Amino acid sequence: MKKLNSLRAKLIIPIISFSLILLIVTIFFLGQRQLSFIRTHATTQMTVAMQLIAEYVSVPLVFNEPEEAHEVLSKLETMGFISSAAVYTTEGELFTYFGGDSGLYLSNYEPYIKSIARDDEVLHLETPIVYKDVRYGTLLSIADNANQKSVIHESVVIFLFFFIAMAILSVILTLIFEGKFLQPILLIAQNFKKISPQTSFIVPLDPVVFKSDQSKELKYLVDGYNQMVMNLGYREQKQIEAEAALKEINDNLEVKIINRTSELNQAHEKLRKLFQNERNIVKNLPYGIILMDYKLNIVEMNDFARKRLGYVDSPPQKISDICKVAVCLENINACPHIISDDTTQNEKSMQSYFSDIHGNEVPVLKTVIPIEYNEKKVIMEAFVDISDLKETQLELIKAKEKAEESDRLKSSFLANMSHEIRTPLNAIVGFTGILISEDLEDEVKDEYRSIVEFNTDNLLSLIEDILDLSKLESKTLSMKPKEVDLLVFLNDISENGEMLISQAEDKELKFALEVDPLLTYETPIFDSARIKQVIFNLLGNALKFTDEGTITFGVVCNEDNLLFYVKDEGIGISDEEKERIFDRFYKSNRSMNKLYRGTGLGLAICKNIIELIGGELWLESELGKGTTFFFTIPKPTSELAE
Ligand code: ADP
Repeated sequence: MKKLNSLRAKLIIPIISFSLILLIVTIFFLGQRQLSFIRTHATTQMTVAMQLIAEYVSVPLVFNEPEEAHEVLSKLETMGFISSAAVYTTEGELFTYFGGDSGLYLSNYEPYIKSIARDDEVLHLETPIVYKDVRYGTLLSIADNANQKSVIHESVVIFLFFFIAMAILSVILTLIFEGKFLQPILLIAQNFKKISPQTSFIVPLDPVVFKSDQSKELKYLVDGYNQMVMNLGYREQKQIEAEAALKEINDNLEVKIINRTSELNQAHEKLRKLFQNERNIVKNLPYGIILMDYKLNIVEMNDFARKRLGYVDSPPQKISDICKVAVCLENINACPHIISDDTTQNEKSMQSYFSDIHGNEVPVLKTVIPIEYNEKKVIMEAFVDISDLKETQLELIKAKEKAEESDRLKSSFLANMSHEIRTPLNAIVGFTGILISEDLEDEVKDEYRSIVEFNTDNLLSLIEDILDLSKLESKTLSMKPKEVDLLVFLNDISENGEMLISQAEDKELKFALEVDPLLTYETPIFDSARIKQVIFNLLGNALKFTDEGTITFGVVCNEDNLLFYVKDEGIGISDEEKERIFDRFYKSNRSMNKLYRGTGLGLAICKNIIELIGGELWLESELGKGTTFFFTIPKPTSELAE
């Protein structure tokens, strides 16, 4: 099988096969032609001979001389291949015949329809016997094929000889050609066999030698092979050099890569630290920082923001989660409200309100700007909690208003004071002068003296008020608490109250004392002089602002304090005035219009005294119907009581 696959087998087998097939086909066609020629030739020869015989036999037939006719027929013996012949009359009677064995057969002859008939073995030929254009009978001849067969056999032998000779010739020729053309190819093929993936071409392989008697194409092949082997050697050399160079580059590259990797790692570490620092700064800034990407996902929310907005445990993921509830309360439709680049520095910060998780409003000063954070573009919403600032601002406004009010009150006090001081002083100075310089009647003198005394008392009381107030303001007013017999205390108030009211002769006033029937708190501890000062101040005001009706003084004993009240049915106090009447130097316009006397210090002193002992002072009033002032004295602690 292997041999059949070889180049030699592939070359020889087709050539020989093809030559032999060609030879067989040629012999077959030539044989056929030869056979046909032999047959045609025999038929023609026989036809010509028979026509000649028919001509010769016509006379004996016409003249009925069978011996003559037989003699003519016997001439056929010389022709060899005519085995028998017979002459028939036109009536079909046998006239004469030639050929012993066939005579019997021919005696029963029926004239042939065809003039020539042939089967495998014999050839029948009928030839008309004509004399002077009249047919007198038929010459029937039979030719034997045996003669032809021998000729054919001869031809076959000759062809076979040629066939064998040609086959041998073609094999010889093939071998000669094979030697001439195939040998160098086989040599190259053998050399190729030596080449394997491991073959080194550095030591050159033996070149294939070209012989001058070989064809030019083979020379190309041999030269090509030799050139290829040489090129391979050259290439291998180059490859070795290239590999060495590559290895060197590779080694250098590895070192470079290691160096670059370490540089890169260092840079990365630096960057990481930088970002960590940046993150730490953002994380620990005492301002709220919320960083979000452009899809509004929260990237960072620092501790301050989380604490201030109340998201310590679960930081929100998206700004929209907290936008409407926590930030952007004022800009719901523009969240986040990014400040454009052309905004001036002053406009960049805006006041706004955030809401903490409990819904408390947090006043803030905020800025929303795009920045780069950890090498990414983000939006930064930074805010400063200005709650303290706002509170301080409010306090400042209040303080300012208070200062302005105080200033206004002081101016009014000074104006008032000059009037309040000058009035009694004028009276004192004027009446004292008259008393000294003029000789007056005793009655008049007494009257003037009492006027001087009255105004002196007024002036003294005013000066005492001012002194009390300054002591209260400087917190130097000392209290002298001691056990008080409540019944005696109330009795004293009642007596003095009635006397005070009875002095207002021009008014129709009554005094009433209301004492809690369940009063058990009988020996409280307080500075009775100061409490009396408060009560008489309130009673004095009630008297001053009430023209008719009842002025009631009462006391109620509560669980932890004593509650006193002074009730009148006077002009009452408007809602706006209710707070302000406790301010120092405050006198209502209505009071001034009706020329009610007073300094505007009484209630301020009262409130200060009550608050100093831990109680409270307040009022209930209705314009035109009257006013009730309440104050409490807390029960002393067990320590004080002891
Ligand atoms: P004065 O000594 O000038 O009365 P007060 O401080 O005692 O100063 O009172 C301040 C102001 O409070 C009075 O000017 C008056 O307008 C109002 N007021 C005080 N008590 C009464 C009251 N019983 N009824 C109506 N107004 C009162």
